[in-house]
Amino acid sequence: MEATLVPRIQTLTPHLVNQIAAGEVVERPSSVVKELVENSLDSGANNIVVEVEAGGIRLIRVTDDGCGIDSDQLVAAVARHTTSKIRSLQDLEQIDSLGFRGEALPSIASVSRLSLGSRTPDAEHAWRISAREDAEPVPDSSPPGTRVEVRELFYNVPARKKFLRTEQTEYKHIETLFKTLAISHPAVGFKLVHNQKVIYQLRPALDSTDHRARLSTLCGKAFAGSLIEIGVGTGELRLSGWVALPTFNRSQADMQYFFVNQRVIKDKLVSHAVRQAYQDVMFHGRHPAFVLSLEMDPRQVDVNVHPQKHEVRFRNSRQIHDFLYRSLHQALAVVQPAEQQNSPAFAMDATDTDAGTLSQYSQQSGLGFAHYSSFQRPANIAEKSAAYASLLGSERKIPDAPGATREIPPLGFAIAQLKGIYILAENTDGMVVVDMHAAHERIVYERMKQNAAEEDVIKQPLLVPLSLSVSQAEANLVEENEALFEHLGFVVERLGLEQVRIKAIPALLKNADTGQLIRDVLADLVEYGRSDRIEQYENELLSTMACHASVRANRLLSIDEMNALLRDIEQTERSGQCNHGRPTWKQLSLDALDKLFKRGQ
Ligand code: ADP
Ligand code: MG
Repeated sequence: MEATLVPRIQTLTPHLVNQIAAGEVVERPSSVVKELVENSLDSGANNIVVEVEAGGIRLIRVTDDGCGIDSDQLVAAVARHTTSKIRSLQDLEQIDSLGFRGEALPSIASVSRLSLGSRTPDAEHAWRISAREDAEPVPDSSPPGTRVEVRELFYNVPARKKFLRTEQTEYKHIETLFKTLAISHPAVGFKLVHNQKVIYQLRPALDSTDHRARLSTLCGKAFAGSLIEIGVGTGELRLSGWVALPTFNRSQADMQYFFVNQRVIKDKLVSHAVRQAYQDVMFHGRHPAFVLSLEMDPRQVDVNVHPQKHEVRFRNSRQIHDFLYRSLHQALAVVQPAEQQNSPAFAMDATDTDAGTLSQYSQQSGLGFAHYSSFQRPANIAEKSAAYASLLGSERKIPDAPGATREIPPLGFAIAQLKGIYILAENTDGMVVVDMHAAHERIVYERMKQNAAEEDVIKQPLLVPLSLSVSQAEANLVEENEALFEHLGFVVERLGLEQVRIKAIPALLKNADTGQLIRDVLADLVEYGRSDRIEQYENELLSTMACHASVRANRLLSIDEMNALLRDIEQTERSGQCNHGRPTWKQLSLDALDKLFKRGQ
């Protein structure tokens, strides 16, 4: 009988081990830039220069003015599993540096021609090694700090090289990454040079104004001009940064920067919390823009879950989710006329039209709007304007009387209606233009939500209870959260190990796909510990109804009605944009008008 061939087990050579690690860490030129810049940031650098040639494929050179490396440590720095950043498991559990795995330099060196030069502040001169096994440091001339040069990436791994895209594409990846790193560390000066051309030169940003200027350079003026500053929380958990007004929204999630202890993070829990905070002020399918920085105790977040370290695990994920959601939701709710006035008059990028989707939606939902006529309260506006008009009586003359301006409300007084669509008003700063339908829609919607929240939800028993097969974990959740469902207007109970039964639903949702809704809610509960789907779904319905219940374009309004509407906008939360994220009004200041007519130039 022939013996079966049993394969021999062998130890891999260190070089091959490094190349395998490179497979995880070095995906493309931008990954090299990330690792090198992170090392520079860890070294305490105040200035970092990134030079690349041919999309980083021919050369990547990162120079910093950080602490440097002692000459007798240069060889160790490019060896595998060597790091100065952690020593024990305890250190691993509270990491305050960006690196800690001791893998980047040896991995990069195994798939390129790498040279490492450095000079510590006390050294007489710099030393340099080229990372080969027999490398010996040689004297070099350069100022204190470190310079790493990576040439001919993947020259010895043809399979990897084939997967590289064009130089232009690889360069774009580098630029995107560079921007993100520069935004994450505003106090550090950054410079990017591509093919000998300076692309960005960013001075250290030492205060909020400088920081905004950096954002303006990297993300554009429109973005920087529509930011709401955030600063909430205490020593344990702090959130700071900026969110763009909902009127500045994107077709892609490409302007979303989130940092945890200054580390660039992509995290599902975080995106979910942000999306929820915006869901009420942004049209479906659009993405908000933000730069947010979360500072927390490093022991409360595990960064050792991904080789490229852009994923983290929060020890208390539910608390983080709630904190983010609440902070952002609140920040967006208080966007009042004053903030909107500061935003550039026409800063938004094109928003999708929503008309088609909406009418489709109302057909699907099949809801009769008559049921909600109590929300429309046409009498309300008339009442208000009558009261306002009498109150106004003499004050109506104020705009003509200089010196008495303090009585003018933020949105001023209506002057006229334009084409049955816009209200023109005059305030202290100049002219205000209001989209009358959009504004009214927001007001009606906020009022409907408030009413819905104050009243008890009307439950409607199902003629035939609906049985659902779910996972065991989900069935457990149903059991644990019966009260929550009850509060939302559902009667759901556990039927078996993997079976639940829905016996009643909120009357408002009688046309919804209840099974799917419950499944989605359970999936959210499993993943994030909370779910706003039902509320979200109800809000969508209310929003549709609000749209239909609001003053249509082409309706003539009296001056008093217009003024009443202006006062309502001033008092309504989130009134700066309609339910679909379009602005409801814009300020045209006297300055802007003067510019338009080239007055005083
Ligand atoms: P890690 O960053 O995970 O420690 P690296 O392979 O990236 O691993 O770097 C190895 C070591 O080399 C670092 O721990 C650090 O001591 C040193 N080093 C690398 N880059 C720099 C730099 N720009 N300035 C100072 N020291 C550096
Ligand atoms: Mg590193």
